[in-house]
Amino acid sequence: MNLPKPWSLDLSNPADAAPRGLPEFLERAVNGLSPKGRHQDNEEQCTCQDCAKAGVKELAFVYNKDVIRSKDAPRAADVLREIEDIRAAVEVLRNAISSVNDFTRLAFSDVGGFASLHEREAPDRSRPGKGLEFYDGSREWNQSLTLLERAACAASDRFLEVRGLPRGSIDKGGNTNLFKEYRTSAEYQLVVQGWSLFQRFRPNEAKGGEKSDFHNFLRDVYSYATRRDAETYSGVTSWVHALARPLRELDELLAQRTQLFCQFKNALDPNERKTLEKKLSIVVYRIAFLQQHILDLKLGKKPPRFKGGS
Ligand SMILES: [Zn+2]
Repeated sequence: MNLPKPWSLDLSNPADAAPRGLPEFLERAVNGLSPKGRHQDNEEQCTCQDCAKAGVKELAFVYNKDVIRSKDAPRAADVLREIEDIRAAVEVLRNAISSVNDFTRLAFSDVGGFASLHEREAPDRSRPGKGLEFYDGSREWNQSLTLLERAACAASDRFLEVRGLPRGSIDKGGNTNLFKEYRTSAEYQLVVQGWSLFQRFRPNEAKGGEKSDFHNFLRDVYSYATRRDAETYSGVTSWVHALARPLRELDELLAQRTQLFCQFKNALDPNERKTLEKKLSIVVYRIAFLQQHILDLKLGKKPPRFKGGS
């Protein structure tokens, strides 16, 4: 039976996501990062020309891959249907196993599975000769099927629960594109990951304005990835506007955390350590809050502001 290849996060042919734009856009995007210095062993901090080029190529590749993956991604209803298919198949198998005759069992036992036939003395001495007795191995098969059935039911319940839907409503999974639920959108990822790369090469210089260097950098990455011009780039622009502020705040908080941690490590006075520890825990909480907010962000909705101490 030729089954269709199931949808996967990995592309069956990674070359499909290769950047399609002109090399001049790659060059412009790399220049936008203002690479400097020689290559360092710690590539996550290196700001050399080669690492800038590798970073831009990766951004463009991931963008194209996200666009492809998002197009044919499974919907929530597909997941529930597949789980139900497994559960129903368990039922079919269980019925098939429980209805086999002893010679079918014997056929399985010849290859070491399902049931084995033992020859032994008949317990009743009044009966002549030896008797045949089955050891019913199908019980173990049934136990495995029960585990699979329970897993299917639990998976379905959990899947509905996280979406706020009642148990058993397998037809209500809806048309949610699960890849978008998981990655939001290719444009969102381009902005978040592009920000991180830009921050590495040009710390604290990324800005959300449409004429900013960061915006121009993303535009070049987009053109390099897609071969399209900036007119089709509006999705990215909207995400830059929505994400610039929380991403900037996150960078500031991460810097604060590093600074406080250094101070805490070097502090000897117990009271000072206590104060620093308290400040550190607040910053850690704010980072977690902001990271979650960035993950949950939807276009067109105002972000909730954090009201905790500083
Ligand atoms: Zn490097």
